[in-house]
Amino acid sequence: MKLKTYTAGTMALALAEVKKDLGKDAMILHTRVYKHGAVMGLGGKQVVEITASDQATSAPPRRQSEPEALVRTPSRAPQSVPVVESKPAARPLVTRVEVAPVNDAALASLREDLSAIRRLVGQALANNAGTPGTLHGPLADLYARLRDEGIAPGTADALLAAVRSDISAHDMGDHARVASALSKRLAMLVSCVGAITPGHRQSDGRPLTIALVGPTGVGKTTTIAKLAAAYKLRFAKKVGLVTCDTYRIAAVEQLRTYASIISLPLKVALSDADVAEACKALGDHDVIILDTPGRSQHDSPRLDELAACVRAAAPHETHLVLSAAVAPQVLARAASHFSRVKPDRVIITKLDEAVNFGPLVNILRESGLRASYFTTGQEVPDQIEVASPARLASLVVGQGLSPSTNTTQPARAIGAAIG
Ligand code: GDP
Repeated sequence: MKLKTYTAGTMALALAEVKKDLGKDAMILHTRVYKHGAVMGLGGKQVVEITASDQATSAPPRRQSEPEALVRTPSRAPQSVPVVESKPAARPLVTRVEVAPVNDAALASLREDLSAIRRLVGQALANNAGTPGTLHGPLADLYARLRDEGIAPGTADALLAAVRSDISAHDMGDHARVASALSKRLAMLVSCVGAITPGHRQSDGRPLTIALVGPTGVGKTTTIAKLAAAYKLRFAKKVGLVTCDTYRIAAVEQLRTYASIISLPLKVALSDADVAEACKALGDHDVIILDTPGRSQHDSPRLDELAACVRAAAPHETHLVLSAAVAPQVLARAASHFSRVKPDRVIITKLDEAVNFGPLVNILRESGLRASYFTTGQEVPDQIEVASPARLASLVVGQGLSPSTNTTQPARAIGAAIG
């Protein structure tokens, strides 16, 4: 059996390729439509990918985890090509889509359109003076770095123009100078809180109340332990913990373990009323930190429940916790869905696992939220720092995560940065 993957700009073009290569009886085993070159899910070129076999009667390859009964062999249909499409588990695993036969005249016209578009794009690029194609030296390297890091194209172009205006032609060949100018400009694009909030009674007479919200697994509980340790051990504050993450026993146990190591009271709240009650009971403390259940962004009712739970604590700070280790689209989706909980700042975790730092700049710009803390590892209480624009910029420009590895912007230890 011959198995091949074909890609094209449209389904019709991809199918034509399949037909040309494998014949009209080809069996389509899988189709996928994705954007190539998209940034934060925007822009990019649509790509249709088809995996096909030349043997219409053979069964499609099956993933190890799929039960045999769920994988069927599509039957042949005259004048049409059956498509077997993989779906997320909640939906039926096998669906059949009838695709109309490709008309040669329509195909020829599509090809013409496509080459006309190619010509136009080529002309537009050629007319665009000052584009990266005309760059050289450090500026070219750093522009490529911005794009590789996932900085949105418009932002990268604007940064380029700004750096050109900041630096004399004479200094343009000096990599360190250009990198430093770029870092400064990049840092101006994001805003950060800049200090750990002093842990004392607020103007409303209540303890400083901090809630952390965000998807499961981003590191909320670990970060709460780091923050609680900072307030208690470095600033000698009286700290209490409340959790309403009671859907997972392990989550409560995890927080209970941290609470007992740091010697903090922990209140477990089963309802919104419990949350309010727990906060009231800890009213003589300096700081209360609320752990919340991670929510799937697809689960609207649960997000509403989460919002109600947070409201019950009436926090002074609501930190949306986002992991730097996920794809840009996942980051953007999480920020969009959790906006319902009305966070007023962002904690970025797992910087140590990030593949690219550009999406973090994009998400902070798009959400309009200030970053409060960065975390850089699993170790409690140390691997947390006060977020700083310069630090993020230096990571994007390539100056490294570790203070010992060539970074001009070392981490601001949380203890050194109280506001
Ligand atoms: P939660 O579900 O959001 O409460 O997430 P947890 O606090 O349980 O953390 C999930 C996993 O991420 C655990 O294995 C943590 O040790 C890990 N984790 C948390 N913060 C960081 C970090 O900054 N870097 C790395 N590499 N792992 C982290």
